[in-house]
Amino acid sequence: MPLMTSWVEAANAPDCDFPLNNLPYGVFDDGSGARMGVAIGDCVLDVARVDHGLDPDLFSAPTWNSVMASGPATWDALRARLMVLLGDPAYGAAVSPHLVAQSDVRLLMPFTVTEYTDFYASKHHATNVGTMFRGPENALPPNWLSIPIGYNGRASSVVVSGTPVHRPWGQVKRPDEALPQFAPSARFDLELELGAIVGGPSSGMVSVAEADEMIFGYVLLNDWSARDIQAWEYQPLGPFQAKATATTISPWIVTRAALEPFRTTSPERDRPLLPYLHEPGPMLYDIELSVGLAPQGASETIICRTNYGQMYYSAAQQLCHHTTSGCSMRTGDLLGSGTISGPDKDSRGSLLEMSWGGKEPVEVAGGQRCFLEDGDTLTLYGAACGDGYRIGFGTCSGTVQPAITLPDWASEATS
Ligand code: CA
Repeated sequence: MPLMTSWVEAANAPDCDFPLNNLPYGVFDDGSGARMGVAIGDCVLDVARVDHGLDPDLFSAPTWNSVMASGPATWDALRARLMVLLGDPAYGAAVSPHLVAQSDVRLLMPFTVTEYTDFYASKHHATNVGTMFRGPENALPPNWLSIPIGYNGRASSVVVSGTPVHRPWGQVKRPDEALPQFAPSARFDLELELGAIVGGPSSGMVSVAEADEMIFGYVLLNDWSARDIQAWEYQPLGPFQAKATATTISPWIVTRAALEPFRTTSPERDRPLLPYLHEPGPMLYDIELSVGLAPQGASETIICRTNYGQMYYSAAQQLCHHTTSGCSMRTGDLLGSGTISGPDKDSRGSLLEMSWGGKEPVEVAGGQRCFLEDGDTLTLYGAACGDGYRIGFGTCSGTVQPAITLPDWASEATS
């Protein structure tokens, strides 16, 4: 599919994240209150103010949940109408008064996260982490090639790009000490992921094909992870506090419709999947991803380049598997893909892997990193690249703040 041109000139530049082909959904505030917006070129369209042809109630609260809940026919109708309004120059005069420069707005959470589940679907990531923790012979857990592994996270942990993230306090037990201490994490890390947003609700089991139809769109997602807290707490029930500090998402929901031309097939299966997990067609996407790390006062270094297309399990498979227990899914549920690591050292999606457990520091402008330091700004980037245009995700960014000063009762208990 070629570039679809818009009368918003900036949208037609080949390196623009937001051409007419994209039309991602967000929530913005230009100083006069939070409203639903659509990114086009270097602007945001105040969508409630234009002749969108839908029930105005869908746009009455600053969140995309109502549109998501109204189902795929509404999603398609809105996208088709926006294509006309922003593509046909005849609408320029009527629509342009409702465009706001992106540089003049603050972007807020694009939807209300109902529940959050995080998966573990990159074979390279699972192999790297397993090799470090259990040795190369037992790197992949025995269930990994059969089950899309996940855990139930906290919706309350999800924050929008730009939100500061404090280094967490927690229980850590150092290898040379017999007992744990309560201390700030010394091994604070990122995980580069893609988040799938459930649009339509479900009750009962849904197939992989039905699950795919339920997905409204995708965001970049950083699952901030405290490795020292994780190492001490994770057995026997898996991650808990290590993952609860914050999960940062990018502010624009890139719709499944916009990503349609970039579908790609899953890799060869090392072991046949059970039939309920078979995919009726390509369910992954060719999305180029990268991670930048900028120490305080220093320039940014790209520390990872990878691609979502090399995951082992798709979001549709994860969502299908999630429902097989009878677990119902709700509008606004967020599914993290799991860390997206590729086969090479510079395509690993976490510092844990890049520094191989803290043994091989990563070079960045102004220093080296095994794990994150206070003042570090991490930014995730992503785009599906077409012929002369890109479906960009914008940025997913957060700066590490020092651990909070403990309340008196906690500092007394720590000393
Ligand atoms: Ca994760």
